[in-house]
Amino acid sequence: MKILVPVKRVIDYNVKPRVKPDGTGVDLANVKMSMNPFDEIAVEEAIRLKEKGAATEIVAVSIGPAKAQETLRTALAMGADRAILIQTDDEVEPLAVAKLLKAVADEEQPGLVILGKQAIDDDSNQTGQMLAAMMGRPQGTFASKVELSGDTVTVTREVDGGLETVSLKTPAIVTTDLRLNEPRYASLPNIMKAKSKPLAQKTPADYGVDTAPRLKTLKVAEPPKRSAGVKVADVDELIAKLTNLGVVA
Ligand code: AMP
Repeated sequence: MKILVPVKRVIDYNVKPRVKPDGTGVDLANVKMSMNPFDEIAVEEAIRLKEKGAATEIVAVSIGPAKAQETLRTALAMGADRAILIQTDDEVEPLAVAKLLKAVADEEQPGLVILGKQAIDDDSNQTGQMLAAMMGRPQGTFASKVELSGDTVTVTREVDGGLETVSLKTPAIVTTDLRLNEPRYASLPNIMKAKSKPLAQKTPADYGVDTAPRLKTLKVAEPPKRSAGVKVADVDELIAKLTNLGVVA
């Protein structure tokens, strides 16, 4: 079985984002970029399925600028077999990403597509669900456990009240939650090896997908600054303060 893993290049999760002075977006100039953390978990899960003998090939795909090649090379260094870059300098919204991924899936015919549950830059949490709908395939979102047996994938999902387990027939779409696994670091020899793994270069036009935005960002603003905290001497003073503020009755 082939596994397709979409990986997005995003602002590194350790970086504190700065909003552009004109409020049109986040300033990405000279900012460290990395693979979306949930996508690292997706790559790791695909590798574990391959190591268990449940998968045969892992294809990583990214839609983004030329530099998204670095993200794909990271996926290859972790253990993906080959990569596809769909190159565009435009911002591509989840709907267009899902259309492009569907086109790739139509060509590649993967048994599983494992995506992150959300990209930490747009926080959309839409692409996997849209892809499943467009492909007419079952989806197991927010996965904290994935088990593959024959043509059945059992996904344990993190839901509000606890855990829900669903059974899907492949081909299926899975999106990863934080507790699914701990992604490995690529070793130096694997980073070197990844340089010679195949990386195909495409454009959205190759797949006949129009990536023109459908949404207009009106304004991006920093969260309001938090006011400084107050030190209290003991629990009694804390409770008195909270009572005054109406936090406790
Ligand atoms: P989102 O719906 O934007 O929060 O993204 C959810 C998931 O879709 C991500 O974790 C990725 O697996 C995938 N994805 C979103 N945008 C891209 C992109 N430009 N290239 C590759 N994968 C993407």
